[in-house]
Amino acid sequence: MMKAARFYGGKDIRVETVPDPQSGPGEVLVRVRAAGICGSDLHGYRAANPPSTAPRTPGHELAGEVVGLGPDVHTLRVGDRVGIEPLVGCGECEHCAWGQYHLCEKLEHIGGARSGGFAELTVAPQEKAFLLPDHISYDEASILDVLAVAVHALTIVPVEPAERVVVVGTGAIGLSIANMAALAGGRVAVVGRRQGPLDVAAEIAGAYGIDSSRVDPVGAVMEWSQGRGADIVYEAVGGTADTLGLSVQMAGAKGTVGIVGSFRTPQTIDTRPALRRELTLAWVWSYALRRERPEFDIALDLLARGLLKAEPLITHRFPLDRINEGFVAADKKSEHQSIKVLVIP
Ligand SMILES: [Zn+2]
Ligand SMILES: [Zn+2]
Repeated sequence: MMKAARFYGGKDIRVETVPDPQSGPGEVLVRVRAAGICGSDLHGYRAANPPSTAPRTPGHELAGEVVGLGPDVHTLRVGDRVGIEPLVGCGECEHCAWGQYHLCEKLEHIGGARSGGFAELTVAPQEKAFLLPDHISYDEASILDVLAVAVHALTIVPVEPAERVVVVGTGAIGLSIANMAALAGGRVAVVGRRQGPLDVAAEIAGAYGIDSSRVDPVGAVMEWSQGRGADIVYEAVGGTADTLGLSVQMAGAKGTVGIVGSFRTPQTIDTRPALRRELTLAWVWSYALRRERPEFDIALDLLARGLLKAEPLITHRFPLDRINEGFVAADKKSEHQSIKVLVIP
């Protein structure tokens, strides 16, 4: 038997004792060592009138130790330290056939349709468990899902050296995109409402910080770019914010807006200025392969070489028994000065 956090809908999260999961053919059993709370985990948590649901165990940002092997596992051994890519496509559709499994209509997440990392144990297909170098901690490795989204953002909307890049949003994904854009040689500005994350953006991306709680962010971007606007804007807020229209206003002639945030509300764009500047809007969803290589593996490579940073994003750690406190810290970001909150099962 193991301990697992079970989500019954909304804020009803209970740590319960449940049977150990079993690894099937080609799957490994993983002792979870760190699991991050994602913005997407908070959507259900914040729901005003949540439907009561059959309990499930989320946690799709996870890393741990292989403690068991199902039949036909040849690439991993018991004791291996691994980061888990949570996306599991059906393996049979056209999207999966050309490696774009994030577009699979039957896509499942470990920590979504499948049981995830807010538990002592979980299972993963062997090809989704990536061996960690010794110097990468489990805590850092639990950020790989976030870093892989940032890698994918630059796959979809690449940055050329010296381009002016604005990132709207200072969550873990926004900050990681700023990090990636700086690696690509971009000159980066980050728009946020809290000084703590803006300081992290300066640390990991050399980014110019724009505090939109104090100044008009569009005006500040125009000033920063000598009136030209940004070559590239990544929108990384989503939810119920109205930041898409703002992001479009920040882009200069021939600019591109990469939309990373997952909006829960319709967005309004003033299209005439966008037309006059011939903007391109591109949506960025999750990640998969860049050519033949998993973007998760690219993220691990960049993390292992110290080019992408994970540690500065981690502000809080809670044991599994206190996962409710972890969700409060992740939900009330200003009050708790949080960026990424980890659960340590
Ligand atoms: Zn996530
Ligand atoms: Zn598929």
